[in-house]
Amino acid sequence: PAAGTWNKEELLEKDRERLWHHISPHNPNPVIAVAGEGSWITDIDGNRFLDGMSGLWCVNVGHGREEIAEAAAEQMKTLAFFPLNQSHVPAIRLADKIVEWLGGDYRIFFSNSGSDANEVAFKIARQYHNQNGEPTRHKFISRHRAYHGNSMGALGATGQANRKIKYEPLGTGFQHVPPPYCYRCPFGKAYGECSIDCARIYEDVINWEGAETIAGVILEPVITGGGVIVPPPEYLSKVREICDKYGVLLIVDEVICGFGRSGKRFGHQNYGVEPDIVTMAKGITSAYSPLSATAVRAGLYESFKEQGKDNHFRHVNTFGGNPVSCAVALKNIEIIEEEKLVERAEYLGMQLEHKLNALLECPNVGDIRTFGFMAGIEMVESKQTKQPAAPAKVAQVLAECKKRGLMIGKNSDTVPQYENVLTLSPPFVTTDKELDFIVATLKEAFATLLIKSSTV
Ligand code: PMP
Repeated sequence: PAAGTWNKEELLEKDRERLWHHISPHNPNPVIAVAGEGSWITDIDGNRFLDGMSGLWCVNVGHGREEIAEAAAEQMKTLAFFPLNQSHVPAIRLADKIVEWLGGDYRIFFSNSGSDANEVAFKIARQYHNQNGEPTRHKFISRHRAYHGNSMGALGATGQANRKIKYEPLGTGFQHVPPPYCYRCPFGKAYGECSIDCARIYEDVINWEGAETIAGVILEPVITGGGVIVPPPEYLSKVREICDKYGVLLIVDEVICGFGRSGKRFGHQNYGVEPDIVTMAKGITSAYSPLSATAVRAGLYESFKEQGKDNHFRHVNTFGGNPVSCAVALKNIEIIEEEKLVERAEYLGMQLEHKLNALLECPNVGDIRTFGFMAGIEMVESKQTKQPAAPAKVAQVLAECKKRGLMIGKNSDTVPQYENVLTLSPPFVTTDKELDFIVATLKEAFATLLIKSSTV
């Protein structure tokens, strides 16, 4: 019934004729998903795949949650929409819950997507400085390899040229620093013998650009889609110190890391820092409904709330914080709390890290990085030279996993050669048995590389 009256061939034909796929317009054979339950997706032929990427780093509470569907239906029947220049109960309750989860004093601005949430952060940061008599502070510092969204400002912040060059000019004023990438240290150093140069570089850039021109720094707690690049443990607090020294706002993009993925409620809580602005999306509803939020430290909000001043934040988002998405988010968070899924994510992450270690024996696995319940497996041609694995080898592992019923992802990068990191971020409801299936399947997929190369 989910397919309507069309059979698979007809659907595929219509898909080719009518649908513009994200990223790859020429995907000749997409998985046509028709149902999901727990960690599993079923396609139109009845094949089942373990969703090793939670869709796109988002379906954290798993597929097929009837409680969420019911919460959405109930809200639709009661009050489907009301704008947030007035107010409604689900938005008030959700804002309060998010502040509780952040553990600080924040104001919440709702939008629809991660990109939206970051745009809001940039605009609030610029306006804040403006209202504080520092109108020249308009630039942001972000990192190469990072992704912050597809709108013009968020793309400006993004550090992957191939996502940008055909669309320029983008939002301006974004400077990039090298990522905190110990496996391929951009400063040619080794962790333990370095001065955390990847953090120190912010201070240089702030001085080179002129501190009076810098509005903020935007970063994810770890670079996720760019290859699960986990910084040294002291990195984030060092960046925080530098921001404080120069009056620069720290914006933490928790679009992927937030809502438990990191093994804590928010990724930055692993590093004991308090951001000025936190952006969140994906896991806020586990993707059951589009929603995002920008949390702004209450202290920053002061300059926006004084009466009688021209200090309105001139930004309206029709669907942002709509009652249905807020009700879905509230139910999603209730499930996470009741089923202790943040703790479960932390446990699963530790198990995954431990079990994946065996893969390091494979000659094509150079590095394995985990953060909470996500992992990046960096594929190389040789452990000694660290030359990235040939794209065909990366594609082979992905295909062999899929053949065996496991869907995983891969990083994106400007240089296709560096799209050599397999990514994993399964739902938090993944069972121990399913985790074993993931690791066993990866082992089998990597083993096929050995068979091929030994027969050549
Ligand atoms: N920030 C990060 C870290 C992301 O991974 C993404 C999306 N993958 C975004 C922002 C943009 O979110 P959206 O696709 O909802 O606009």
